[in-house]
Amino acid sequence: MTDHHKHSLRLDKVERHYAQGEERLTILSGADFEIAPGEMVALVAPSGAGKSTLLHIAGLLERPDAGEVYINGEACGSLDDQRRTQMRRQTIGFVYQFHHLLPEFSALENVMLPQMIGGLVHKEAADRARQLLDYMRIGARASHRPAELSGGEQQRVAIARAVANSPYVLLADEPTGNLDPTTAGYVFDALTALVRQSGVAALIATHNHALAARMDRAITLENGRIVPLVIS
Ligand code: ADP
Ligand code: MG
Repeated sequence: MTDHHKHSLRLDKVERHYAQGEERLTILSGADFEIAPGEMVALVAPSGAGKSTLLHIAGLLERPDAGEVYINGEACGSLDDQRRTQMRRQTIGFVYQFHHLLPEFSALENVMLPQMIGGLVHKEAADRARQLLDYMRIGARASHRPAELSGGEQQRVAIARAVANSPYVLLADEPTGNLDPTTAGYVFDALTALVRQSGVAALIATHNHALAARMDRAITLENGRIVPLVIS
């Protein structure tokens, strides 16, 4: 077993620059990072620092300018778009600040859909979706459409959907950023329980230092690099 396999997610010397007129804006430069199965890591950095960029690269939604992303030991840089899409569906779960649930489908159906795209039959997908919604304590809301749910409930459905295909890596981009502090706490508790129970490697961008302090460790971005952050 090579060193890579000890980590569900590993970034190696990742570079990301944007052209801004004549200037070159450096977002990531020599960004190294790894996260083990079951580990929950907070990504805390000011707005504009590059949190979403980092999560999109780690989640294979964007390609870095240089460097490599390893998912469960597999180098993803040389994969074609079709294989990257497949990896994304099978091995990565993504949660956004706004839930991005499909409005015309129920909570249950929203959690079933990624599984059915993944090839599961209706009954199996429904059973797993029900289990996940129960686990997130929203089983009673399974038949509701997103518009009939509160913000906290919508985010719990979005989290259930993100882990429906049992990913190795869970990436969340300010998942509680849109919620009041009490609701954010409930959603975070549910998220934590799920990470602990499933063994997924979780990287969670947040501005909330109290929540960040409850994760295993915190990181930030400094001059394009990923460095440890001590939260006092
Ligand atoms: P954060 O999520 O921490 O707020 P982002 O990753 O969204 O930060 O953005 C980091 C920086 O990169 C910002 O200055 C943003 O304006 C810039 N940026 C993001 N996407 C692009 C893009 N497609 N083109 C040019 N600049 C971008
Ligand atoms: Mg962002």
